[in-house]
Amino acid sequence: MKFFDLHCDTIEELRKRNEDYVNNTTQFSVRDIDKFDKAVQTMAVFVPDSIRGEEAVRFVDDYYDYLNMQAAKYPDKIGIVEDITDIDTIVFQKKWAFMRSIESGACLNGNLDNIDHFASLNFKMLGLVWNGANELGSGPNNDTGLTEFGKAAVKRMEEVGMIVDCSHLNDAGFEDLLNVSEKPFVASHSNVRACCNHPRNLKDEQFKEIVRRGGLCGINIFSKFLNEKDERNKEDIFRHIYHMLELGGEDVIAWGTDFDGEVTNAPEVNDPYRIGLFAEYLEKMGIKKETIDKIYFDNAYRFFLKNVK
Ligand SMILES: [Zn+2]
Repeated sequence: MKFFDLHCDTIEELRKRNEDYVNNTTQFSVRDIDKFDKAVQTMAVFVPDSIRGEEAVRFVDDYYDYLNMQAAKYPDKIGIVEDITDIDTIVFQKKWAFMRSIESGACLNGNLDNIDHFASLNFKMLGLVWNGANELGSGPNNDTGLTEFGKAAVKRMEEVGMIVDCSHLNDAGFEDLLNVSEKPFVASHSNVRACCNHPRNLKDEQFKEIVRRGGLCGINIFSKFLNEKDERNKEDIFRHIYHMLELGGEDVIAWGTDFDGEVTNAPEVNDPYRIGLFAEYLEKMGIKKETIDKIYFDNAYRFFLKNVK
């Protein structure tokens, strides 16, 4: 069983609930590591839209320390990816490889030097926005595109080798990103609008651009992004994957579960081990083993090793 997940909000939930990575009631835990051959989890620091300015920089700095402290409690089960090649060493030791990311460029406080700062702390990916507007652009709550600072931030991130994450970005911002970016980017936790008409999901032409540019798109298991009835349904996860495959997405589909962002996930997939078992369902539905391996691990692994500096 292999698993590479591009997004979860677990670190924030652990703090809220005063739990840790083994003794917890969260969806993500590291307890089942012995069931995996290789396992990589991206740990996102989510900056709420209520936090801006210097406070947003300090907020992420503080979560950096908190994540390190939580991971250090279980050195036999968790390794943090500092250099991207650490993934190999950590998974070889049969531990969870944790990769750091940030959700919302509000953490930059409008200063490009903060990209270098967070890159030096080995955050490998940055989501430009959350749902509201920040210094870079806006999510679906607003229809303005990328700001001049947002465009400059994309360029600086590409220079330092930090991956641009377009999940949450609105359509105008996505269009601007296509014009400004020169390197492949990621939609870490977004589905497709053709299967569930929600502004957080990608239009077919947006998904096809990600394919054309060699990016990644992580399947989100939150029910609101799976179907318009907001139901927990594993068949819907399959529909999104199948549609992405029809659009030529075999080499870009990954998982972007959004564990612990919302609790209304399909019960068949609401922890990493159950996601692993979901592979059997995909196989039963006629997805080739090789394609399943790509979705579960190989696409994301290849992408990050190639594109992160
Ligand atoms: Zn999100």
